[in-house]
Amino acid sequence: SSYKPAENRYEKMKYRRCGHSGIDLPLLSIGLWHNFGNHDDLENSREILRTAFDNGITHFDLANNYGPPYGSAEQNFGRIFKEDFKPYRDELIISTKAGWDMWPGPYGNFGSRKYLIASLDQSLKRMGLDYVDIFYHHRPDPDTPLEETMGALDQIVRQGKALYVGISQYNAEDTKKAAKILKEQRTPFLIHQPRYNMIDRWVEDKLLGTLDDLGIGSIVFSPLEQGILTNKYLNGIPDDSRAATEGSYLDKSQITDKVVKQMQQLNEIAKKRDQSLAQMAVAWLLKDQRVTSVLIGVSRVSQLEDNIKAIGNIEFSKDELKEIDSILEK
Ligand code: NDP
Repeated sequence: SSYKPAENRYEKMKYRRCGHSGIDLPLLSIGLWHNFGNHDDLENSREILRTAFDNGITHFDLANNYGPPYGSAEQNFGRIFKEDFKPYRDELIISTKAGWDMWPGPYGNFGSRKYLIASLDQSLKRMGLDYVDIFYHHRPDPDTPLEETMGALDQIVRQGKALYVGISQYNAEDTKKAAKILKEQRTPFLIHQPRYNMIDRWVEDKLLGTLDDLGIGSIVFSPLEQGILTNKYLNGIPDDSRAATEGSYLDKSQITDKVVKQMQQLNEIAKKRDQSLAQMAVAWLLKDQRVTSVLIGVSRVSQLEDNIKAIGNIEFSKDELKEIDSILEK
């Protein structure tokens, strides 16, 4: 490969300790949910990962069904990893997950031991890895005993297929229950991956406090509300945006006049801070030390470069916070 990572990459990023563990995570991590599937441009995907690593972003987040089609993000990542990142494996934290639908029939979804263990074996093959750093149960499964799901995570670690485990989308109560089982098993429970951004604040109620008490780190997804908390939709819906893409999880109908007006107002605050709206949205999350890392998605390198600059200013005055809340009616 012709790729030589920037030598000063670790001077460009800041890192935070992930709960009570030995792992530091970069303030920004990169997610491969979108823009790494078979319909995306592989060279663009490659440039995104190279730029991330060149800026000290050591953490790449995947899941079994990222694509489309399912599995293709891991496959494309595997190719880029082999060509560009293999010499740097020990400088990377690579995660994957299982918990949502992946293959047909009763064993390709939810939280059984059968599903989780088979799915990770498939993921490792697709990515061409011997192990992942973090393996997650992707969402709670009310119909499977938590002991079975957590037992599967433990077995995966004992088998050497993951170094640490995590859970995603679990509420505070279920997180406590999972933590108790994992502690009894002595499974290294590193991290929780919840949804959190200026608009969606459910984690503030109990989850972040619970994680803090338990010594578990957090990495928050959809920090830009899939692009709404950026300058993207300030003047309409661009054709090359997620909201304009059929079958994406961001529907045009979510870009209401009210939302656009709110974003224009937020953008004025961001300007006064010398930040883009995206930078302010990322910084707003990082102001809370309980947030270990902000897990962004990007469709192009310029967005990544924009978002990374957020780390230059993550302080907010009381007035700024109040103004943001009043715009969003929180
Ligand atoms: P974001 O909220 O960061 O949205 C990313 C999208 O916002 C981009 O694809 C791009 O959209 C737009 N964008 C990003 N930066 C900018 C910018 N500077 N200016 C303008 N537009 C910008 O996160 P995602 O929803 O993509 O989630 C991030 C990651 O979180 C995923 O990749 C995945 O790893 C993880 N995740 C985990 C889930 C879970 O259940 N655990 C669920 C969902 C995500 P556009 O394409 O329009 O350019």
